[in-house]
Amino acid sequence: MQSRGLVDFHCHLDLYRDHARAVRQSEEAGVYTLTVTTTPKAWPRNFELTKSTQYVRAALGLHPQLVEGRAGELSLWEELVPKSRYIGEVGLDAGPRFYRSFEKQKEVFARILRVCAKAGEKILTVHSVRATKAVLDHIEEHFPPGRGKVVLHWFTGTAAEARRAVDLGCYFSINNEMLSNEKRSSVVLALPFDRLLTETDGPFTQVDGRPSEPSDVGLCVRGLAALTRQSEEAVAGSIRDNLRALVGDS
Ligand code: MN
Repeated sequence: MQSRGLVDFHCHLDLYRDHARAVRQSEEAGVYTLTVTTTPKAWPRNFELTKSTQYVRAALGLHPQLVEGRAGELSLWEELVPKSRYIGEVGLDAGPRFYRSFEKQKEVFARILRVCAKAGEKILTVHSVRATKAVLDHIEEHFPPGRGKVVLHWFTGTAAEARRAVDLGCYFSINNEMLSNEKRSSVVLALPFDRLLTETDGPFTQVDGRPSEPSDVGLCVRGLAALTRQSEEAVAGSIRDNLRALVGDS
């Protein structure tokens, strides 16, 4: 399907070989793109490339997988917070490779949520690997409703955790990998459609053996259409409406 007007609410354009070109391609494809960062040191270049784009926005992040080496950059992250409405990638990762830093990650994520709550109107894209409960506990404790919005990226929690996330006001950004088998799709089907966005998480997902790009997000729209028995156009329109609701009323 046509990529114009589709939504890729979580990708990493600064990790492609040619960052400037990746931004330009999203812009030319007309895909509403949120390009996340993993360290606040990446912010100036990301800001420079997206400050006058119509479709591409950059998010200010400190990735949980980098907290072990870069927790010291939290103060730089805080200094930059007033410059960005979008925050991410942030969150928690309790996978085996990163569990060692989990206590530190929780400290950093709690601080990030409190700073965002105080600032108000921020929109966060949040990573959770083997940490859905801890992520939701943190949001509940440190990020009161009405102080901003959370989008859970690549959600893998249980149906009960999904209901809890919905009650906390969370949105969910869905990628094609999340639709790749019936067990994964059943997680997506349990989510309310008016809280869904689409994402590629490129370059960490692939299409035909190459890294996904924002213009590939139509594949996810097609998958969601098949899963929910709607037309691709209807799904694309709803996702766009959801994006408007997310950014228009925080
Ligand atoms: Mn990511």
